[in-house]
Amino acid sequence: MSDKAICYLDNNATTRVAPEVVEAMLPYLTEQWGNPSSAYSFGKQVGRALDAAREKVAALINADPREIIFTSCGTEGNNTAIHSALVTQPGKRHIVTTAVEHSANIKLCAQLEKRGYELTLLPVDSLGELDVHLLHESIRKDTAIVSVMYANNETGVVFPIEEIAAICRARGVLFHTDAVQTAGKFKLDVRQLGADFLSLSAHKLHAPKGVGMLFARRGVPFSSLITGGGQEQARRGGTENVPYIVGFGRAAELAMESLGDVPRIKSLRDRMEQGLLASIPNSRRNGIKEPRLPNTSNIAFSDCEAEGILLLLDRAGICASSGSACTTGSLEPSHVLTAMGLSRDLAKGSIRLSLSKYNSDADVDRVLRELPVIVSKLRGEPVSM
Ligand SMILES: *Cc1c(COP(=O)(O)O)cnc(C)c1O
Repeated sequence: MSDKAICYLDNNATTRVAPEVVEAMLPYLTEQWGNPSSAYSFGKQVGRALDAAREKVAALINADPREIIFTSCGTEGNNTAIHSALVTQPGKRHIVTTAVEHSANIKLCAQLEKRGYELTLLPVDSLGELDVHLLHESIRKDTAIVSVMYANNETGVVFPIEEIAAICRARGVLFHTDAVQTAGKFKLDVRQLGADFLSLSAHKLHAPKGVGMLFARRGVPFSSLITGGGQEQARRGGTENVPYIVGFGRAAELAMESLGDVPRIKSLRDRMEQGLLASIPNSRRNGIKEPRLPNTSNIAFSDCEAEGILLLLDRAGICASSGSACTTGSLEPSHVLTAMGLSRDLAKGSIRLSLSKYNSDADVDRVLRELPVIVSKLRGEPVSM
């Protein structure tokens, strides 16, 4: 184990909490612990902090604050949108989504299918792209909702959400997008996108885990997933997680301020990608068509298991991932890469490296130094050093 500071290149899994976010949260974990729904001023001042955070998160996506529902995570946002569309339109029992969604969506849809709902899982091509025409054709009279992620968490492939939203609107079908990976990486504008529902997660945005939000467009029929008190305009029961929501608000503000830093992150990513491809034979990038997430790189190494690469990277103090669900002992190839038609060998030899504003040239240099040696070692090649 290296005694150097860790080199964190797994920012699509979670991100470091920004010190400014911790600072904003602290008063709400110490002195300001009132219930935001209480009638006395000790509670009301906490309610005002909640309102301010809602305004900041709304500003991040150009929504009206009343369209923001705070949730416990991105997963809850996705579940709420799909659940709501099915409950408010009981006659419609068909769902359209893609084969490359996050498990927060795909596992839910699979479960709904078992309960008798009908599911269309749209395929992607070898570049990870959707056939929008096929999406158009898959919409039926009984389609309750179309749910398509904005950007893929494993490959960084970006889908044409504006175009898809327009198709859904023209066909009178509700549209949800899981935009968890785009916040802080692109300018987000729900008015321009035209989505009915959009979910975000705070921990992908330098705020803590355990808080997220669902945008529900004004006037869209809505049914709660969690029923209880009148919080969140009676759309999500449960006393609000005020300190975390305040942190989310601060993170939203910081994300907008640091959009100008994205080109720097992208050039770090590009230097890392090009360096790895140049120094490691039989390596290729997965999902490279622009536009794509500026911080994400997914690379396949033939004759090499991601499991081994990640283990040796870990020993060198570098955090990366394979983007696939790790079950004890066996590493199944990623459903995203499999949907793109990668062979089992290449899918099992793919790793994801994802950067954030906290990464520097030194991190890229470290990966460029360590990874070629690791791959050679695992391939059983003689290592000359
Ligand atoms: C991380 C992630 C989620 C889940 O968010 P949680 O807050 O961890 O539930 C959903 N969708 C995508 C694309 C993600 O990357």
